[in-house]
Amino acid sequence: MRVFGPKELQTDIIEKGLCSGCGGCVDICPYFRSHRGKTAMLFPCTLEKGSCYAFCPKAEVDLDELSMRFFGRTFDGSPLGHHLSIQISRAGGRVSSPNFQAGGTVSALMAFALMKGIVEAAVLTDREKLLPLPRLVKDPSEVLRCASSKYSAAPTLSAFNRAVREGIDRIGVVATPCQALALAQLRSNPLQKADFKDPAALVVGLFCTWSLDFRAFKDYLAGKMDPSIIRKVDIPPPPAEIMEIYDDQGKREIPLAEVRQLVLPSCSFCLDMTAEFSDLSVGVLEGRPDLNTLIIRTERGMEIVSQARKEGFLFTEDLPEENLKHLAWAAANKKKRALVKIKAEGLFNTGDGRRAVLRFSDEAAGAILAGEDGK
Ligand SMILES: Cc1cc2nc3c(=O)[nH]c(=O)nc-3n(C[C@H](O)[C@H](O)[C@H](O)COP(=O)(O)OP(=O)(O)OC[C@H]3O[C@@H](n4cnc5c(N)ncnc54)[C@H](O)[C@@H]3O)c2cc1C
Repeated sequence: MRVFGPKELQTDIIEKGLCSGCGGCVDICPYFRSHRGKTAMLFPCTLEKGSCYAFCPKAEVDLDELSMRFFGRTFDGSPLGHHLSIQISRAGGRVSSPNFQAGGTVSALMAFALMKGIVEAAVLTDREKLLPLPRLVKDPSEVLRCASSKYSAAPTLSAFNRAVREGIDRIGVVATPCQALALAQLRSNPLQKADFKDPAALVVGLFCTWSLDFRAFKDYLAGKMDPSIIRKVDIPPPPAEIMEIYDDQGKREIPLAEVRQLVLPSCSFCLDMTAEFSDLSVGVLEGRPDLNTLIIRTERGMEIVSQARKEGFLFTEDLPEENLKHLAWAAANKKKRALVKIKAEGLFNTGDGRRAVLRFSDEAAGAILAGEDGK
């Protein structure tokens, strides 16, 4: 992959509104910091090639290279990415919490991985009122405290960078698609360091159509409700077209059309709905908010699911064909929408030394553009 430095990260990504706030460039040096949902360069840095640029999920990402590295195959543009199996799941009887967003699959798997020593620590996302906060947790009971979806973009990977600095070498991560993509870049050792060892032992990706700009979301809710008593935020499947906010006084509904105005601009450049660079990807099963859709992508993911099932941490069953079709349709739409946008902005497979957001084969691009209607 082509790697540039912090100056290019600032001009190409941050100033152009392409930053997803994933935290990949945060806490690897004194220069980049995340403050209340925004990533900023605190002092100028003149490095010509930096990890900050190399890890960014919007800067010169070569999906063929990454796909070869993680799946042994090039990126083919298929709606749900490379995978081995797709199932329905929920937490098994050994683990429960009122905080689960849906079936609790994510928390159950991470708690299991910690208990079994598969991971030494887990990078999760907690919250303080509405503000999502990266957390590095080592005790399985802390995993349950971080359960539930925070719909604003979170600098989760800053906690991963801190864990690496602490010398932890078996790290579990729960990541949205942009965070998982940044992590995949980091794990492919883009600066070709001789002593590099992949520190990620388990990556559980979250399905994500978009995430919100924290500051815009906070301002929108100001005066409407008290963020300190919010217990849960949820987005029921279509045709509901609402965001539900549960607080101490009950449930409130906000029109999704208004919420969509608060989505980060960078989300429209993201092709990935199901966190394709993960061992396991988890979303809500449409029509069943108490269950998850679970995509098993790697042998390591398959092994952990099988162990967790045997030991009562996870329950799985077959996914009906109808659900699979709808999931693939939604994921194909996201891919097509984003590729049309990236191409229109001249940021796909650029030549003449110009920098791109994404690179992959014209064949895969053709498959995406020939797919769903992109509405
Ligand atoms: C921004 C966002 C958008 C989403 N959009 C969709 C969607 O379009 N379709 C769909 O099916 N599912 C979506 N999800 C995923 C869904 O909400 C659930 O997270 C998923 O189904 C897992 O459910 P669970 O009960 O297993 O999770 P739980 O066991 O409750 O665990 C949730 C985990 O999510 C992590 N987390 C929470 N917020 C963030 C964040 N902002 N960044 C990184 N990690 C976080 C926590 O660390 C926790 O480990 C989205 C999630 C987020 C955060």
